[in-house]
Amino acid sequence: MTARVLVVDDIMANVKLLEAKLKAEYYDVVSAMSGEEALEAIKNEVPDIILLDVMMPGMDGFEVCERIRANRDTQHIPIVMVTALDAPEDRVRGLSAGADDFLTKPVNDIALFARVKSLVRIKMMTDELMMRQKTGEEMGLVDSEETRLPDEVSGRILIVEDREISAQRIAKAISPGNEVEIESNHEEALIKARSNDYGLIVTSLDLKSIDGLRFCSHLRTMEATRQTPILMVAEESDMKRLVRALDIGVNDYLLRPIDENELKTRVKALLKRKLFQDMMRQNLQLSLELAITDQLTGVYNRRYMETHLSGLVRKAKVNGKPLSMLMLDIDHFKNVNDSHGHAVGDEVLKEFAGRLQRNVRGLDLACRYGGEEFVVLMPETPPDFAMMVAERLRADVADLPFETESGELSITISIGMATLRTDGDTVSETGEAMLKRADEALYQAKGEGRNRVVVAAA
Ligand code: GH3
Ligand code: MG
Ligand code: MG
Repeated sequence: MTARVLVVDDIMANVKLLEAKLKAEYYDVVSAMSGEEALEAIKNEVPDIILLDVMMPGMDGFEVCERIRANRDTQHIPIVMVTALDAPEDRVRGLSAGADDFLTKPVNDIALFARVKSLVRIKMMTDELMMRQKTGEEMGLVDSEETRLPDEVSGRILIVEDREISAQRIAKAISPGNEVEIESNHEEALIKARSNDYGLIVTSLDLKSIDGLRFCSHLRTMEATRQTPILMVAEESDMKRLVRALDIGVNDYLLRPIDENELKTRVKALLKRKLFQDMMRQNLQLSLELAITDQLTGVYNRRYMETHLSGLVRKAKVNGKPLSMLMLDIDHFKNVNDSHGHAVGDEVLKEFAGRLQRNVRGLDLACRYGGEEFVVLMPETPPDFAMMVAERLRADVADLPFETESGELSITISIGMATLRTDGDTVSETGEAMLKRADEALYQAKGEGRNRVVVAAA
């Protein structure tokens, strides 16, 4: 995986050293020698990850970090702060400013590549989500305000730890503001993790009852927990296995002895990142729904129906079951608009779509085909059953006046019904051809006086 790394340090020798290490691993490296230069480089070079020195004259690392996080276009770029060994309060300050991790000088190679790799992986996933989100925004389907993060995040956290004292200590540190559960049995933990939507799982590399690596790999294999962030607690002497853990997909780690403040801040950062991704996914879901449904009536749109129809025809070819469809059109709808106005016409369309959906089965697909024309696709439905549904629909519309702003209106509809043609057991026409026959039947129903159902010639 090639990625672009921005190295920021005011001392040339430090820049050169990191540059050499990263280039040897085929990373694309750009550098900046001050906070100001860094912000400029971020705009122009769009890095995938930033290695940021803390102590710099002028704008220091904390401020650079805060500015990157405050900008909507750059808020998701991973930042690793590079600090001096003996500054635990710098770590906490950096994490609060929005850094994802720390490397201490002199930089340890294993730690460097492990962190860069795992953070870049997360970044790529976020990029993909952000791109889709942008498309949604451009199409006017998604509201950009909906992906702003709240300042304070809290979540449900599961601690999986079979050493009582260690579990209690972690729980005590992260309990304020969060809902925390402890599970000492790893089997139980997997069940819990699968059936609850935890914002974070904190576990230990040295569990007594199972290899911590194996446990995390289980979590990553199960669909329900694939995206759940994992924070791993480990001994410094276990660095090699910790690297494996990061490869498996553990999101972050903490070395013993645990610094409470660092634990709290890392937990907060992970919860926040999860929330961000969840929000984007939700937005994506919403934009998908918007893209396939008709805005006025809430039923599927024509484009979706046509895609779905070709799928149903393929399926009918395989399972040999009859596929029927109805094409429905409101009679003299133009009169409704002309006499009562377009808004009342819209009301009638909405009410009609509602009645349509109440009269078809879950398996059936109702869609708005055009202005006041609708289509219902009915898989595994023989002609006589489809006729029964059509007749019920016709009567449901004709017998019950529509309540509108202009009072009660009597509405009728005409329906054309068609069943996919077969020759013996084999399907002998396309979805479009069936649509055309249903349309012709509808036309015939109009000609014969409207408010009726006509079956297309088979
Ligand atoms: P017929 O019985 O032959 O179907 O007559 P009709 O008046 O229903 O058919 P026609 O196709 O002549 O007119 C359809 C009208 O539907 C014309 C158009 O202005 C109106 N229409 C199309 N889409 C909408 C919409 O979204 N809202 C409203 N209010 N009217 C719409
Ligand atoms: Mg009409
Ligand atoms: Mg029409």
